[in-house]
Amino acid sequence: MANVLMVGSVALDSVETPHGKVDRALGGAATYAGIAASFFTVVQAVGVVGDDFDPAHLEFMRSHGIDTAGIEIIEGGQTFWWGGVYSADMNSRETLFTHLNVFESFQPKLPPNYRDTPYLFLANIHPALQLDVLGQASGAKFIGLDTMNLWIDITPDLLRQVVAKVNAIFLNDEEVRMLTGEHNLVAAGRKLLTMGPSVAIVKKGEHGALMFTADGLFAAPGFPLETVTDPPGCGDCFAGGFMGYLAGADDVSDSALRRAVIYGSTVASYNAEDFSLDRLRSLTEEEVDLRFEQFWQLTSFER
Ligand code: AMP
Repeated sequence: MANVLMVGSVALDSVETPHGKVDRALGGAATYAGIAASFFTVVQAVGVVGDDFDPAHLEFMRSHGIDTAGIEIIEGGQTFWWGGVYSADMNSRETLFTHLNVFESFQPKLPPNYRDTPYLFLANIHPALQLDVLGQASGAKFIGLDTMNLWIDITPDLLRQVVAKVNAIFLNDEEVRMLTGEHNLVAAGRKLLTMGPSVAIVKKGEHGALMFTADGLFAAPGFPLETVTDPPGCGDCFAGGFMGYLAGADDVSDSALRRAVIYGSTVASYNAEDFSLDRLRSLTEEEVDLRFEQFWQLTSFER
């Protein structure tokens, strides 16, 4: 078993969906990815919060075995605060506000014992910071990358430099089209493989995910949920579950990558069932294994 390091936002989220709303609830890409990975391995986290961040949130992360020594607390600072509202069909969202606060001057600093961590997930932050983290993480051997439309739009050259240095990239359909200039998702996924990564994952929301590797294409459905309560963080849970599974197994073979897609989809689907990280608080390893099995049944047929 190997450790995984998550670098990214630790946030407070105010979110409204057709099922209700929460105000300043725990969120952030590194938080979702870290908790998702904690079902499979030991997690380290690097991020920044203000002194308004409830210590109970850090305690929750530690209770999941996450090492929070890399989460800096800025005295007198305010935590990154994001607000969004989801459409009636939950397939699109509008960002209402992004108060970067202490995140604006975030300079990720890896504690010395994190530099050799073999699995690294660069959650969505400015590509210049992602490059800086890559310089510090000298022992990382399998690196996953997320980004967002903003960076594809305003810092494309810098982002391409990061993409060239990572092993796996996680993008949603809109982002992959923007980054590659290809509308067709299969053509776009294959193009990503020419840009650096050997694993390219295209997330299609409730319609599942496609994984492109040199060995071919793997398609996972979205788990058919009767009630989707709160989608934020599903992408980060997918990446966190994926990276966490690979680290826990310490295996990046094609069959491990395929299982990782299903474990990532499993944790992401549970996350959508309740607000903030609340479903992940009660989630058990048995439930993770159960849905992994249900995923297998969902697409199994006799031939
Ligand atoms: P996802 O739904 O997977 O895109 O993740 C949503 C999470 O990302 C929320 O918890 C937000 O706090 C966080 N987030 C939103 N905007 C940003 C941003 N510009 N940079 C980093 N994290 C963000």
